[in-house]
Amino acid sequence: MKTYIVGNWKLNFTVGEASIYLHKLLKALPNYRDIEVVVAPSTIALQPLSLQVDRHKMKLAAQNAFYRDYGAFTGETSFLQLRGVADYAIVGHSERRYIFGEDDKTTQKKVAAAIRNKITPILCVGETESERAFGETVDVISDQLIGGLTDVADDDLDKVVIAYEPVWAISSTKAAKLAAPDEVAEAVALIRKILVDTYGEKSAKEVPILFGGSVNPSNAGAYLTVPGVNGLLIGGSSLILSEFTDIIEVAKRVKS
Ligand code: PEP
Repeated sequence: MKTYIVGNWKLNFTVGEASIYLHKLLKALPNYRDIEVVVAPSTIALQPLSLQVDRHKMKLAAQNAFYRDYGAFTGETSFLQLRGVADYAIVGHSERRYIFGEDDKTTQKKVAAAIRNKITPILCVGETESERAFGETVDVISDQLIGGLTDVADDDLDKVVIAYEPVWAISSTKAAKLAAPDEVAEAVALIRKILVDTYGEKSAKEVPILFGGSVNPSNAGAYLTVPGVNGLLIGGSSLILSEFTDIIEVAKRVKS
C-alpha cells in the first residue's frame, strides 16, 4: 500500500499564494511511486490548481463539498462540480462536525456523493477530549465510521480512505496535546477491526488509515511507524512548504 501524505490547508492562502506554493512543491517533489502526496486547498483555488498540478507527482483534495449534485443550495459546491478537478475530498473533518454542525447522516451522504463522482473521500473520525475523558472513544469512533460508510457498497470500499484525527490533538486554534503512538495504534486497530467486521478481511485490509493531529517533521516518523498507520493528514505544518517536504522525506525514509 502507498503511504499517504495529505496537507489540509484549511482557510489559508489566496489563490495566488496557493499557486506559488504548488509551483514550489512540484519543483521540490520527485516522482515518488509509493508515496501519494495530496494537498487540500480552498475550493476557490481548486480549479486553477488543477490546471497547474502534475498528477504524476501529486493530487488535489477538496476540503468540503455538498452531497446534492445541483439545485437550490445557495453557496454550495457539489462533488459533481469537483469531478475531474479534485481526486480526493476530506469528509467529516472535526471542524465541519463541530463548527458547521455536520452530523453522521450528512457525512454519510457526502461520502456517497464523493464516490458517485469518482472522488476518493478521506473520512475523518475521532473523539473529542471530553468524549475520551468519559470513556466514549470506542463508541464515537464506531458511530462515525459506520455512520459515514453506511452507503458504501462492498465493491466501493477500495475507494475510501479513513483518517483518525482525535479532536483534542488537532492544533488549529490552540496548542494541542500530542497523541501518544500507542493511543494512535489502539484507535487504528479499532478502525481496522470495524472494517473487517463490516466488510470482511480482504476488503478491509486495502483501506488506508491515516493519522492526523499536530503532525510535524519531528514526530512524523513516530506516527508513520505506528502499526496500521498508512499515512498522515497534516494541517498547520502543511502550510510551511519546508515542513511539508520534510514530512514527505520522512515518509520516504520510513518506507525504505
Ligand atoms: C487537521 O485539521 O486535519 C489537522 C490534523 O490539523 P493539525 O495538523 O494542525 O493538527
